[in-house]
Amino acid sequence: PVILAIESSCDETSASVIRNGKVLNNIIASQAVHQKYGGVVPELASRAHQQNIVAVVDAALEGAGVTRTDLDAVAFTRGPGLMGALLVGVSFAKGLAMGLKIPLIEVNHMQAHVLAHFIDEPRPSFPFLCLTVSGGHTQIVLVKDHLDMEVIGQTQDDAVGEAFDKAAKILGLPYPGGPLIDKHAQQGNPRAYKFSETVMPGLDFSFSGIKTQFLYFLRDKKKENPAFVEENLADICASLQHHLVSMLLTRVEQACARTGIRQVAIAGGVSANQGLRQRLQALGGQHGWDVFIPAFQYCTDNAGMIAMAAHYKYQRGLFAPLDVTPLARMPLSA
Ligand code: ATP
Ligand code: MG
Ligand code: FE
Repeated sequence: PVILAIESSCDETSASVIRNGKVLNNIIASQAVHQKYGGVVPELASRAHQQNIVAVVDAALEGAGVTRTDLDAVAFTRGPGLMGALLVGVSFAKGLAMGLKIPLIEVNHMQAHVLAHFIDEPRPSFPFLCLTVSGGHTQIVLVKDHLDMEVIGQTQDDAVGEAFDKAAKILGLPYPGGPLIDKHAQQGNPRAYKFSETVMPGLDFSFSGIKTQFLYFLRDKKKENPAFVEENLADICASLQHHLVSMLLTRVEQACARTGIRQVAIAGGVSANQGLRQRLQALGGQHGWDVFIPAFQYCTDNAGMIAMAAHYKYQRGLFAPLDVTPLARMPLSA
């Protein structure tokens, strides 16, 4: 089968074509309009999706060498995400499915982040653990099958991507700041400054305390030296990143010990982080785990992962009714 997949949950308009389980392309239009606001503005996101979606879908079809009439199904992100942004993708997919008289497939965005691991070799086998770390989520997922996943640990407040972005904002870096902290960190000493952690019970996380801690840390340092940030940016970024990554990896180690599982994957935007990627590799080497790290294009939001999820749903005949509605909140099991 040939399936067109559309992603529009946040600030990336993306489309991908998958044929017989092989992702043929992954067209992504990122929305620059949010940069000057220091975060995603939902109204502007919906409008930009509306402006981009036709061209993005056409580019995906053309790049894959298929026409609309070749399609066997059309898939879209149902949630979780921004309601107005999701609506653009859902409406577009519905119109196309109705016009072509082909089935609709709804995809859970967080399941799709995990399923990005099935786009290319090497693919994990079941069961495996996936640390899904993004702008809105921080989850340790027990993956039992392509469409059977359970959250065994998660953040009780902010997501780790949010912690990266907020720290970057405090440092005066543009949005999204996560990748910039990563970049500066590569030049810095990860042990220059120490931060403390709010330890949550079980396999849960808390990232809301780090913002205030970071704010006060910089305020005190700037009292001694007004040029503190400019003079020590690389060390600050490296230390903060080291701290956030340690918080993540401590829980991953505990999750492996508890479940006895020795295959570990990472997914979501923060899985693009060099510090996380390198330290997970090293930790996996120490423990003898098989470690799975996604290609950069499949870390942050993309329709390739939506297409992969749609492939497994198509195989199982899991189609959505034409009156399906988006869900701003959507549990991983749905
Ligand atoms: P969700 O998937 O939870 O709905 P989202 O779709 O907004 O949220 P993604 O696109 O998967 O999230 O990820 C975006 C996040 O990833 C942002 O917070 C961004 O700063 C972060 N991020 C991207 N690259 C890096 C990096 N190299 N280092 C740290 N953070 C990064
Ligand atoms: Mg994004
Ligand atoms: Fe995402």
